[in-house]
Amino acid sequence: MGFNFHLPVSAFFLAAVSLLPKATAQEAWEKCGFVAAEALLSANYPQEGTAGYFEEWIAERIARQPELNYRSSMTIPVIVHVIYYGEKTGSGANIPYEQVLSQIEVLNEDFNRMPNTNGYNTLDAGADIGITFCPATIAPDGSILDEPGVDRVDGGQLKWTMDQIQSALKPKTYWDPARYLNIWTVYMGTSRRDNVIGYAQFPSASGLEGLNDNGGLAATDGVVIDYRYFGSSEKGNFPNLVSPYDLGRVATHEVGHWLGLRHIWGDGGCGADDYCADTPGADGPNYDCATHVSCGSRDMVENYMDYTTDACMNVFTQDQKARIIAVLNNSPRRKELLTSDVCDIPVTKRIASTQVIVYPNPTPDAVQVEISNPLEFESAPTYDVALYDPSGRQVLATTATLGAANEVDLGALPAGLYILRISRADFSVHFKIIKAR
Ligand SMILES: [Zn+2]
Repeated sequence: MGFNFHLPVSAFFLAAVSLLPKATAQEAWEKCGFVAAEALLSANYPQEGTAGYFEEWIAERIARQPELNYRSSMTIPVIVHVIYYGEKTGSGANIPYEQVLSQIEVLNEDFNRMPNTNGYNTLDAGADIGITFCPATIAPDGSILDEPGVDRVDGGQLKWTMDQIQSALKPKTYWDPARYLNIWTVYMGTSRRDNVIGYAQFPSASGLEGLNDNGGLAATDGVVIDYRYFGSSEKGNFPNLVSPYDLGRVATHEVGHWLGLRHIWGDGGCGADDYCADTPGADGPNYDCATHVSCGSRDMVENYMDYTTDACMNVFTQDQKARIIAVLNNSPRRKELLTSDVCDIPVTKRIASTQVIVYPNPTPDAVQVEISNPLEFESAPTYDVALYDPSGRQVLATTATLGAANEVDLGALPAGLYILRISRADFSVHFKIIKAR
């Protein structure tokens, strides 16, 4: 594929709305509103420059990107703004918390080419991007989120057009995009053009004349996905989700755009470029996983940046990874994210949120120990359990697991008063237990 760094932006978008030769009339729809969103943005921010400008800028940075710049661990904090209209939590557009978590799980599988998941592939060109997405635990005001990664907002209306989302919803609800990847789940679709199931804001080049890095672009930065295509029906019972886009790949595709990836057909015919040499040229989007040959080779229908079904997708390529890394190392609002601390929780706050319940008390034989902590993200951590007699002598040692049913058997001990200590690293709590006869 030839590079064309001087393609004017208008031609770029015109090419994008050309006929889609491989799709039937029924299928020929814009699954993703990325191109339309870019057109809207470029109309509002002409100083952002042309698509050609961005490509020139990023190509330079990819070329001089040493292997060392491939960081060993990259974490991006995520906040999902769940936009609803009066529904109870867990119903309609006010999607359940578990549905959000299922989506974050899919992002982590796909961006890490995780073995034994849908995100794994054995392609030579296949890349492990190496990004971990974490649910943000800290809100912009420093408070701890009740539901890490989620911000629920009653948007005051049922359906949202792209124009309304861009001009009204996002500026009112976004969190600092240099600290959070903003994702909005909404109910979309009131006109043909807006009949997309997701879209994303492309990264900016830096150093553009007349452009404030964090200018108006910050208020719209992020990813928008219709709530019926957000999450994975393989990871829970989410009746909202609509097949065949119910495995979380709409978000993988849109986050790909947000990190600088283009559609693999370059939003044009065979001559259009996605600026990745290892994604074969294609003359348009594909909507299924069958073999499609165009522009002289088989289209990479498994690529997340095609329009195929969720079950078909499992590939980001090495060249796509190079673009993503260059964006994360250089692009305003993206490069700051890797040092954002909004997934961290101050230890004192985490300890304060630990709750331990011990019952029954008094007891003739055993006590149950229940430990919970809404801010604990380590999977099933264990606590030390120790029992002391009134003289301070330890008479029993065992462990208890957070979230599990833990029974401590006192049956062999003489009746009397005991002190039960439950501890872990920087946490400890004591209970007086009466062993009855
Ligand atoms: Zn797209």
